[in-house]
Amino acid sequence: MNKTCHCPTHGQQGIGLVCTHVAHAIDAGERGGFFWGDQTDLARPDAWCKACEDRLVALAGSNADAWFKEAGFKIFCCLCWDEAKQVCGGFSV
Ligand SMILES: [Zn+2]
Ligand SMILES: [Zn+2]
Repeated sequence: MNKTCHCPTHGQQGIGLVCTHVAHAIDAGERGGFFWGDQTDLARPDAWCKACEDRLVALAGSNADAWFKEAGFKIFCCLCWDEAKQVCGGFSV
């Protein structure tokens, strides 16, 4: 995967992935929750909303491939990722 992107707002940046719900929530200014994983080789870890977090917890460690597909992860530049965290956060542990 290409590890940088050209963001229309921030220019050439490292990337992070967010679930499709977070991507929509940031447009709508909704606080849908913001959770993230701990390992990544990208500029930011994968991040997802409260609903995805609940589904992930329900998996209890079993295969997360279907979960990952359903979350519909999208590429964000690392600064947009930080913005999403601020907009969507509020349920974080
Ligand atoms: Zn989600
Ligand atoms: Zn950006």
